Amino acid sequence: MKLHKSLACLLLLAALAAAQTHPHKKTIQGGAVPKTKPDTAQSIHQSALIIDTHADTPQRFLDEHFDIGQNTSVEQGHIDLGKIRQGNLGADFFSIWVEPEFKGRYAQRAMDLIDSVYQQAARHPDRMTMAFTADDIVRAHEQHKFAALMGIEGGHAIENDMRLLRDFYRMGARYMTLTWSNTNDWADSSGDIQDPNVKHHNGMTDFGRDVVREMNRLGMIIDVSHVSDATFYQALLVSQAPVIASHSSSRELTNHPRNMTDDMLRAVRNNGGVVMVNFNSAFIDENYRKASSDPEKIKQRDAEVEAFKKTRPHPDGSPVSYNEYVNLEKKWAAQFPRPPLKALIDHIDHIAKVAGIDHVGLGSDFDGVTSLPQGIDSVADLPKITEALLQRGYTREEIHKILGANFLRVMREVEATASRLQAVPSDALSLAEVELMLANHVAVSRIVERIAERGVDFELTPDRRTRLKAQQADDALLEAIARAKRK
Ligand SMILES: [Zn+2]
Repeated sequence: MKLHKSLACLLLLAALAAAQTHPHKKTIQGGAVPKTKPDTAQSIHQSALIIDTHADTPQRFLDEHFDIGQNTSVEQGHIDLGKIRQGNLGADFFSIWVEPEFKGRYAQRAMDLIDSVYQQAARHPDRMTMAFTADDIVRAHEQHKFAALMGIEGGHAIENDMRLLRDFYRMGARYMTLTWSNTNDWADSSGDIQDPNVKHHNGMTDFGRDVVREMNRLGMIIDVSHVSDATFYQALLVSQAPVIASHSSSRELTNHPRNMTDDMLRAVRNNGGVVMVNFNSAFIDENYRKASSDPEKIKQRDAEVEAFKKTRPHPDGSPVSYNEYVNLEKKWAAQFPRPPLKALIDHIDHIAKVAGIDHVGLGSDFDGVTSLPQGIDSVADLPKITEALLQRGYTREEIHKILGANFLRVMREVEATASRLQAVPSDALSLAEVELMLANHVAVSRIVERIAERGVDFELTPDRRTRLKAQQADDALLEAIARAKRK
């Protein structure tokens, strides 16, 4: 729209007068023309590229045949394309969460969930697109399309196989939580760290460290949400790229083992990473956490789930689906008062203060949690977070960092680290290459020859020795590796 000159002039004068009534706004000197409109929560929110790093919607796609283009009530779910538009969400990481109940077919389940995300993007090409890089996110935003990304939730999904890790990357997964609530064969989880019946590793095994290294090389973001404290610190020592916590809040404010201590927040700052605040009531409000973790209340919930299983058994013997469970838990959770929105903002504020403004973001856990703070009923309510941050004195630039810019920076750094690692010309054989030869039944004598020619780029730790033996490596081969590394 073009304004008539004199009308434009009048509007400028009005803006000038308005600006002067706000003492905290810079007054305009010497009749200079104001360059920008005063920041309103709405203008800040609408001009931001907003990135959420954790939503559990794929179970709805796959198990409930939910179409993201359908408008749904907030009781049915936190996300659909209409709500995404209302909340001005630019991109989300859909969680490829593999429930441990799928033992024996973790990878299959992960691939089914991955497929369900692609199906949604194919169904709504005008409003949604798959994205795999930071540039993709920006491009989608410019085209006014919602960018769908994916992160694997739970390292057990790779079934202890580095090739599957690479395959998940190829299929588009751009982060992986090293664990979910279950400790796997190579990394400890915060979810069962107190359980004496679980075999723990004091953090990570050598294989776990190799997973981190391979993720760095691939350009897959290391996600420390859900992991035990020891796993967290070890992952930071190994990783050459910044890490994220895709959906974790502050333990100082809410004493849940899933949350990050102040020391961990400072470690993420030093690593250059970002902590994405989880909206779950039990992670952001100490009263809610205490009330909902009462053993009697938990018993009551578990009894309701058991009763449901009896009355509604699945014909194929599959467990209570995630969504059925969520619906039961939502009813159960309604007995605890929802925390005020302030609780969520306090967590963002605390992390911004301890880790720094460059190291905090949003990891809602939409469609994966049964209670959200008051005022946040779905992704459509994201503008309320901007409004609350503005009221707390955060500037436009700071709010934009929290809403997405911090994460985008980390994603770019992870991509740059991968390019750097992949560019290093190395003729030496990697552990993965030796394992691939063993898997392909290359004669051990031939592998020994190749090792003599090219050397190896890895140490033969006791854990790796055991692993290679399990893959039929003999003493001659192990000796050849040890000798090659000594050179
Ligand atoms: Zn989670």
